[in-house]
Amino acid sequence: MPRILVIEDESDIQSLLRFNLEREGHQVTVCGGGGDGLHELRRNPYDLVLLDLMLPDRDGLEVCRVMRADPAMAGVPIIMVTAKGDESDVVLGLGLGADDYVAKPFRIKELMARIKVRLARAVDRGRSGESKRLQFQGLVIDPVRHRVTVDGQVAPLTLTEFRLLHVLAAHAGVAYARYDLLDRIGDGETVVTDRTIDVHVRNLRKKVEPYQRFVETVRGVGYRFSELAEEPTE
Ligand code: CA
Repeated sequence: MPRILVIEDESDIQSLLRFNLEREGHQVTVCGGGGDGLHELRRNPYDLVLLDLMLPDRDGLEVCRVMRADPAMAGVPIIMVTAKGDESDVVLGLGLGADDYVAKPFRIKELMARIKVRLARAVDRGRSGESKRLQFQGLVIDPVRHRVTVDGQVAPLTLTEFRLLHVLAAHAGVAYARYDLLDRIGDGETVVTDRTIDVHVRNLRKKVEPYQRFVETVRGVGYRFSELAEEPTE
């Protein structure tokens, strides 16, 4: 059952959304403000967020920005609900990483159709293996939620550290050169250089203790993920 978080302060719209989403078989949680919404997202996993932009405390654009900067929720699809005709907010929101939007007053059928599309895309990603959950002993990597847990505890990885670990672990046993890793984890915005890879690896290892040895240094080449690595590498 897909879990949907509705962040919306108007009670009429809250009820309308809850009613329709539940009728479609979704599990719905409603938060009346941006701060509450972010708090809820940190506590529980969601498959999609419906985000009103005009909120009494932290506005929707800020919620969007915080979500996309946090590896634990960076992968959760966001559909913005905007005031009619507020194009600049739409442009800003999409730029901040929201996936789609509807303008108020929206037609409920259209909104439901858009939600369906977003959820289906997430499922497709799952089928193609791109978002397959990886587990190595007590180390679990969840690409859909951009979340890593170490013996059940969420590890506070940055987005770059997450990508680095995911690339290596998804191809366990393969040694990657630093420049190759650079290509794979760069997002075109953050500048990552050869030497910063080493810094990221060092920080990553600290955060995934006691499994830091899985991220192995391959002398003269770069790094490799191996569950069989025995000795600490530093
Ligand atoms: Ca509002």
